[in-house]
Amino acid sequence: MSTIDFKAEVDKRREAMMADLFTILSINSERDDSLADKEHPFGPGPVKALKAFLEIAERDGYQTRNIDNYAGELEFGDGDEVLGIFAHLDVVPAGSGWDTDPYTPVIKDGRLYARGASDDKGPTMACYYGLNIIKELGLPVSKKVRFVLGTDEESGWADMDYYFEHAGVAKPDFGFSPDAEFPIINGEKGNITEYLHFPGANDGAVVLHKFEGGLRENMVPESATALISGDLDFDQLSEALRTFNADNNVTGEVSQDSEGNIAITINGKSAHGSMPYKGVNGATFLANFLKPLAFNGAARTYIDVIADVLHEDFEAEKLGLAYTDDKMGSLSMNAGVFSFLKEAKDNTIALNFRFPQGTDEKVLKAGLEKVVGVEKVTLSDHLQSPHYVPADDPLVTTLLSVYEKHTGLKGHEQVIGGGTFGRLLERGVAFGALFPDSIDTMHQANEFSDVEELFTAAAIYAEAIYELIK
Ligand code: ZN
Ligand code: ZN
Repeated sequence: MSTIDFKAEVDKRREAMMADLFTILSINSERDDSLADKEHPFGPGPVKALKAFLEIAERDGYQTRNIDNYAGELEFGDGDEVLGIFAHLDVVPAGSGWDTDPYTPVIKDGRLYARGASDDKGPTMACYYGLNIIKELGLPVSKKVRFVLGTDEESGWADMDYYFEHAGVAKPDFGFSPDAEFPIINGEKGNITEYLHFPGANDGAVVLHKFEGGLRENMVPESATALISGDLDFDQLSEALRTFNADNNVTGEVSQDSEGNIAITINGKSAHGSMPYKGVNGATFLANFLKPLAFNGAARTYIDVIADVLHEDFEAEKLGLAYTDDKMGSLSMNAGVFSFLKEAKDNTIALNFRFPQGTDEKVLKAGLEKVVGVEKVTLSDHLQSPHYVPADDPLVTTLLSVYEKHTGLKGHEQVIGGGTFGRLLERGVAFGALFPDSIDTMHQANEFSDVEELFTAAAIYAEAIYELIK
């Protein structure tokens, strides 16, 4: 590895890097569809941040391009092979609960607070300064760098769809995205939501009028509510629920309206849909509570499928769909959104799967179609296939060895259930900038980046880029 002291080079540029980062963090670049138009595909904020960044790059002597305000890029070096770096300048909404103004960056106790400080403006600037060091030192390189700045990473990646369609350049040969964590993310599971469809008609001794739970397919339902009527004793049901809650470590309540309809709610605990075992699924617990009641027809089927097949089966074993890949780990399943109305002809359960290489959305669909009582299975159109760059790929080994040199920590491969811009390239990974022990405040109030860690990241990026293109 190189004898250049990249950390010392970063130290010479501390103030300049912070000044440029403050400029970009001061721009509110939340997506705002209400102000979107042809000139501002995701609203004015993301465009403003993009233009400000490209101005900085021009000031520093880079060739830049703005691809119709969807994305921008700057180029460095020359050669047949191209290293792509994919970062983003849009941010998720600031939300409430901040101690400071999210768009007035401040450093307190070594922490830089602002929306975007860690996702992804801070890492983007650190990576940019890494590239700058190579440029300013005039180091010899044999490959080209294409540094791409997206403006819609947090929503639907429409920036990258547009970029690849309109930029008029071939996809980079390999690359990374500074938009996750160290040591590296070289694998991302596939992601598909599949919907089980059911009828609604039922007229048993107990009738299910409604069953609802879950806000998002990629979240564990925190709570679920059912509305039932029929041959029921309210006091007995209340007592049964108290016992059920105590036995299962959940909470819940039951109430009765003037017409005798009984509403039952069970509260569990939400969690990210890629880690369903970390949550408590209020909906599947509710189905378990309801199971002994005398339902028939569609209600019987709906409740039984949830209680017997989906409840606490985070790897889809009862469905016969469990699958584990040596490198990428196990498939996970989150039963995320439940919607049942007696009057409706089409009721659904949304199942979000994160799956490794070796299985796919069609295998899952075929398995789900075998579940007794399911009328049909449909797929969301947001399919993401599994993505994996082998640990012995020089891209991975190079990035990990630079990380090890600068941190003294052991590098290792990582596979996640989420998705990053790393998957845009066949030989693409995510690299930094959160360190293993740093506090992850991405998407939260009081988002911050540790300032010293940003400088360390800049040194890592400088050396990593140099090692990849020298
Ligand atoms: Zn991000
Ligand atoms: Zn994000």
